[in-house]
Amino acid sequence: MNKMLTNDQLAQWDRESFFHPSTHLAQFARGEAPQRIVTGGEGVFIEDRDGKRLLDAFAGLYCVNVGYGRTEIAEAIAKQAHELAYYHAYVGHGTEASITLAHMVLERMPKNMSKVYFGMSGSDANETNIKLVWYYNNILGRPEKKKIISRWRGYHGSGLMTGSLTGLGLFHKKFDLPLSQVIHTEAPYYFRRPEADMTEAQFTAHCVAELEALIEREGADTIAAFIGEPVLGTGGIVPPPEGYWAAIQEVLRKHDILLIADEVVTGFGRLGSITGSEHYGLEPDLITLAKGLTSAYAPLSGSVVGERMWKVLEQGTDENGPIGHGWTYSAHPIGAAAGVANLELVDKLGLVTNAGDVGAYLNTQMRDALAQHPHVGDVRGEGMLCAVELVEDREARRFYEHPGKIAGAVVGKMVEKGVIARAMPQGDILGFAPPLCLSREEADRVVEVTTAAVHEVLGD
Ligand code: PMP
Repeated sequence: MNKMLTNDQLAQWDRESFFHPSTHLAQFARGEAPQRIVTGGEGVFIEDRDGKRLLDAFAGLYCVNVGYGRTEIAEAIAKQAHELAYYHAYVGHGTEASITLAHMVLERMPKNMSKVYFGMSGSDANETNIKLVWYYNNILGRPEKKKIISRWRGYHGSGLMTGSLTGLGLFHKKFDLPLSQVIHTEAPYYFRRPEADMTEAQFTAHCVAELEALIEREGADTIAAFIGEPVLGTGGIVPPPEGYWAAIQEVLRKHDILLIADEVVTGFGRLGSITGSEHYGLEPDLITLAKGLTSAYAPLSGSVVGERMWKVLEQGTDENGPIGHGWTYSAHPIGAAAGVANLELVDKLGLVTNAGDVGAYLNTQMRDALAQHPHVGDVRGEGMLCAVELVEDREARRFYEHPGKIAGAVVGKMVEKGVIARAMPQGDILGFAPPLCLSREEADRVVEVTTAAVHEVLGD
């Protein structure tokens, strides 16, 4: 860090030179949007260049699962960088770190998973997964079976294919997305059910009926795969309604449609289970991993391929030569070293258990503090994920006319009080996904600040 630069100078360069992702470009350039230059972090706290210390109740972008400032991971990265910063993984090359990590990942995945392909981000892991699904169906002589079903409000990345899979309007608008191979079905979002008097079980039946109708309309022989997050994340932090995954999987099996479990958020402990697949009894053909794989100490993702697909992929290369898919940075040694140290730390600190225990506490406390507020429609969560949905009228389940404004104001107030939450897109939803090492005292602080900010913005 160049301490010679003044904060004002850096802030000006930032506005002039840096294209920030997911940012209001014009407002930022005019100096009207939030700007924060982050300098350090320890445990669940980050610190900025103005010396402000904030409890990060969103773990960056739900990724710094072990918390900030872990020397074990920093040292593993430094050691790897000194020994061998880079070598590629093409044509059979590897490093001790990448091979060890592949082994460790498979030990933690559901049974019947066979191999791990490493990339850099959740988006590229999902690109890989869709390419593998297409490759698979081409080898099987089913070139028509290519469409991918995703859910509205699902989040799977922001590339061309993955931005198409993402079921949020902002990611499509003006980008000419979604691509034609992607079709969307109902979000399993009970609070936003179409009829107020539906029970959870009835809503699940409704989601299943919508899926079956879509398959019927499009033709099962044109549909290759279904992709879903075990718990909807960016689309609102929404655990599935009762019986959802069992019923969906039954439909997919009936129509020979592959299941891709996008565990970028849920992988490695966030739900209080090692994977969301284990948590909800999913038997996926492919699993997408990123974030918690390295706790974001270095960029690394994983596409985990199930046994059934793997056999077919192998057969494809016997016929066609090496698989034509690879990134320069696949299995980057520094990312892999970070991954090994991170997974060891998750075990050593018992973070999966802590996520379940403290996550349940956080959810209970949040519900007790806010569920009865006249502008709180729903408090929901699972493990170390929690959401508070704000509404104009609780009884009528009427949402605010300009989605995002109220949640934005609450989140802004919270930052003033020293806690970071996230205003989730497409609604007024306060999202919480703290590091898995959160303590009960820190959970209390999150609830206290959230409650105070909700009362200040929306009254009592
Ligand atoms: N899948 C899910 C479930 C995600 O939450 C995200 C990122 N928030 C992605 C994929 C994309 O990951 P990345 O931003 O690393 O490309």
